Amino acid sequence: MENCIFCALAEKRLKPWLVLESDNCLAFLDSNPVAPYHTLVIPKAHFDNMLDVPVPVLQDVTELIHQVCQLYTQKLGIDSYQIFNNSGPHSAQTVNHLHFHILPRFEGDAIKFYATRMPELVKQYPEMLDKLK
Ligand code: 5GP
Ligand code: ZN
Repeated sequence: MENCIFCALAEKRLKPWLVLESDNCLAFLDSNPVAPYHTLVIPKAHFDNMLDVPVPVLQDVTELIHQVCQLYTQKLGIDSYQIFNNSGPHSAQTVNHLHFHILPRFEGDAIKFYATRMPELVKQYPEMLDKLK
């Protein structure tokens, strides 16, 4: 897709800080990292996010995520990862080409996730689950 920065990286119109590549996916270092080896894994084909990606593409992405984690553990001894995806306008998605973050975590790092919890929601779970029927 024209004007998509990750398509430009996938098509090598721009040079990625390449970590690993498979037939259909690419893993490269994030240009504004939260931690050392903060990595993004994308399909080479353009999908906006989790809402339009077909499952087989997601399987390819997952396989490369697994390979990256294995590589970092074997080569660098990293033993902890957070793997996440932002999909949609209220999710902090800033690049509208599906990507998963692999964020290595280190003892004592200062990264804060789950800043807010809403335990009061638990009592609404019966109605919430009913809406899925
Ligand atoms: P999001 O907030 O959409 O989940 O994450 C987008 C990520 O892409 C951010 O962590 C951002 O630093 C990274 N990013 C944005 N543009 C580029 C780029 O041109 N190259 C690389 N390597 N990463 C990028
Ligand atoms: Zn794209």
